[in-house]
Amino acid sequence: MVSLEIVEQNEQKIVVKLKGMPLQYANALRRVCLTGVPVFAIDDVVIIENSSVLADEGIAHRLAMIPLKTDLARFIEPTNCDCKSEVGCTHCRVMLMIDSGSSDTTRTITSAELTSEDDVVKPVSDKIPIVDLAPGQKIKIEAYARLGRGTEHAKWNAATVSVLTDGGSPEDHLLTIETAGALSPAQIVITGVDEITKRLEGFKQVISAL
Ligand SMILES: [Zn+2]
Repeated sequence: MVSLEIVEQNEQKIVVKLKGMPLQYANALRRVCLTGVPVFAIDDVVIIENSSVLADEGIAHRLAMIPLKTDLARFIEPTNCDCKSEVGCTHCRVMLMIDSGSSDTTRTITSAELTSEDDVVKPVSDKIPIVDLAPGQKIKIEAYARLGRGTEHAKWNAATVSVLTDGGSPEDHLLTIETAGALSPAQIVITGVDEITKRLEGFKQVISAL
């Protein structure tokens, strides 16, 4: 009989004891929590103005790595969206903007200046540096975020996850999930378990159709 027991839980981290579960299943759950849970990340950047010393690609890369709070109840992955549009729609993408204006002092533009059209999908922290601007320099950017998975690119990794086998029993494992901030640690476990269930159901349908 497989059972789950929460050993430790806070805002960043959850430790779950998986009892009576073969190691390969614990590892499958680890992998799916790492790269199979959809979270938001910036995927497309339109640079309207950039007079900073950082190249456009450098800014786009920094934006892509900013963890964004994710709402899986209201949004779906573009591949599953009815809009079938490359630019996306209100169900599958969120626009964020930076318009720095110019100033007569040197300053650092941070994630605090990245404003989102959505009340939930926004940077998990206000303190992530994006670019330094010298007096007179400015940036104006439109960024489009969408749901994706770590299997596609590490910017969509929901968490860091590890599995440790309990010394006492080879079928007891400790699954530790530390969120990158897009979802709560518990949401990641629940979505991970759902995802495995969905995949197994898909597999069952394929098998029974043979
Ligand atoms: Zn759409």
